[in-house]
Amino acid sequence: MKDNVRKRIDELRKQINYHSRKYYIEDNPEISDYEFDQLMKELEELEDRHPDLITPNSPTQRVGGEPAEQFETVQHRSAMLSLDNTYSPEELLEFDKRVRKLIPEQEIEYVAELKLDGLGIALVYEEGRFTRGATRGDGATGEDVTSNLRTIRTIPLVIENQLPVMEVRGEVYMRRKAFQKLNQEREENDENLFANPRNAAAGSVRLLDPRITASRPLEIFVYALTYAEGANFSTHYESLQFLKDSGLKINPHTKKFGSIEEVLKYCEEWTERREDIDYEIDGVVIKVNSLAQQTELGSTNKSPRWAISYKFPARRATTKIEDIIIQVGRTGSLTPVAVLTPVSLSGIVIARATLHNEDEIKRKDIRIGDTVIVERAGDVIPAVVMVLEEKRTGEEKEFTMPETCPVCGSDVFKPENEAVSRCTNPECPAQIKENLHHFASRNAMDIEGLGPSLIDQLVKKDMVHNSADLYYLQKEQLAQLERMGDKSAQNLMDELEKSKDNSLSRFIFALGIRHVGTRAADILAERYSSIDELTKATTEELQEIDEIGPRIAESVEQFFQQERTKRMLDKFRNAGIKMQEEKSYHESSQPLNGKNFVLTGSLESMTRDEASQYIKDAGGKVSSSVSKNTDYVVVGESPGSKYDKAQKLGITILDEEEFLKLMDSKEK
Ligand SMILES: [Zn+2]
Repeated sequence: MKDNVRKRIDELRKQINYHSRKYYIEDNPEISDYEFDQLMKELEELEDRHPDLITPNSPTQRVGGEPAEQFETVQHRSAMLSLDNTYSPEELLEFDKRVRKLIPEQEIEYVAELKLDGLGIALVYEEGRFTRGATRGDGATGEDVTSNLRTIRTIPLVIENQLPVMEVRGEVYMRRKAFQKLNQEREENDENLFANPRNAAAGSVRLLDPRITASRPLEIFVYALTYAEGANFSTHYESLQFLKDSGLKINPHTKKFGSIEEVLKYCEEWTERREDIDYEIDGVVIKVNSLAQQTELGSTNKSPRWAISYKFPARRATTKIEDIIIQVGRTGSLTPVAVLTPVSLSGIVIARATLHNEDEIKRKDIRIGDTVIVERAGDVIPAVVMVLEEKRTGEEKEFTMPETCPVCGSDVFKPENEAVSRCTNPECPAQIKENLHHFASRNAMDIEGLGPSLIDQLVKKDMVHNSADLYYLQKEQLAQLERMGDKSAQNLMDELEKSKDNSLSRFIFALGIRHVGTRAADILAERYSSIDELTKATTEELQEIDEIGPRIAESVEQFFQQERTKRMLDKFRNAGIKMQEEKSYHESSQPLNGKNFVLTGSLESMTRDEASQYIKDAGGKVSSSVSKNTDYVVVGESPGSKYDKAQKLGITILDEEEFLKLMDSKEK
């Protein structure tokens, strides 16, 4: 009996590991999420009944164990050296010259890799099992963060090779999208925001409670094999291929070159393209490919002579804070913003930086008139990194949070356990504007043409007090506004008309209920197929729904109990907004109803998430794997094996243009 269970558990773990690799490492799943969940569920149930069979490397153990008091210190097998930096093509050519001088008359091959801006770590595998992970620390010793790293799904717990001991180096990072989402959640929770994805990644790996780490969207790329007992490689590139074959994740943009000129081209290309990928890179690492040559070149006591990093121009700059102003957000939150002496940061002029909240200003001791360092990370709003205190003249002024709203003059309220002050007036024009902006945004009602200057005018002229009022505007009224005219007025009327048929989940999200993001809106729409039903839901009832926590539940109930919400909903109803999910609507007029889509490769005009959303909005379904039930396979750049499979099965293949055309034609 026990033997059978053991066998089944082994089998399940193997299958799960195989499919995790397909999904997380190779980005090329073979089974649906549902099927995967079923395997996981079965394993969890078996382990529940037989806890003695749980091993630390079981795929169920990614949730994070008990919190630690402190991290143990570990010695790295070989020191994690830092690399010398170069900042210009000339310096890179110099590096090549130095190398050639030290090992004259040899062919030299280089490997160029993107330099991720994350947290460097070392992973140890013994006989195919992940046994230890440590931070870089001071290079010689680091912190043992094994339990935290175990929660990262792109770190395989079991790999394909059975070498007695193997040590690899990698960089833990967070994608920009994931970072923004995390910060958005933190903002909604009134928690301090992370300044950039690097801080978020580093902070998450170094948490004492692995269960929190498990909830953070961390990923890894492995970039070096530093120790491999019983294996022999002649080049760095070969060892990377070995790591890849073992099931570890290697950055797909790593390339081999025969000359430094080609490497330089690669560096220049990525200087331009750095914003095109969804994670932060701050340069390129160049390594001599031959391991024999690496040994010959050796290291100084600080850094290896066979590698160098080519740094992109900095996105930090020094400037002055001329003033601190207050922005009032959708939920009335008062956010201090620094007005800067405009400064150019890698090609973009920066004139504002967020200061997050009052506590943050106090913590960094930021004063009006201070000279500061600002940093821009990805698409994120620039932030003030630090004050240069030595530049102070004594003329600087400390900032105090106003006690009334700078827009409407109402009282400001700051709950004791929150970092954010809020304007208490629901009719505050600043809040109305932000709400309208949110209502019209792409993931909400997607009303094109309702931009900031139009919203300004509508609120200023008292034409709109809340989003429901939008549907009572007359074309003639609109046409008379600044920068409008007949045509734009008609376009906006059409857009508003079109938005009336949006899905219930879009509408719920558009209402701008505090803490309710797109995900929560989806869940609520699914659970309650109409606004009327949702209005009746109590906090207790809402809280019982999977993924709806007490914060969201309370906020939803509060929102629907307000008299102004009730009045606004009546207005929406009278204007003919769809406020329930109609089955018949789906079946008859949803153009892609029931059609099965599979996406592969990357699209130019949108992310995969966005493409999925479009398809779902039109009634279609998106699956992760191609089968004979698939109707369309949408193929972007560098598609995976799904493309081949689709061809084999004779399924209609759409390129991006054809896909957009199909979506367009169905929208009309
Ligand atoms: Zn106000």
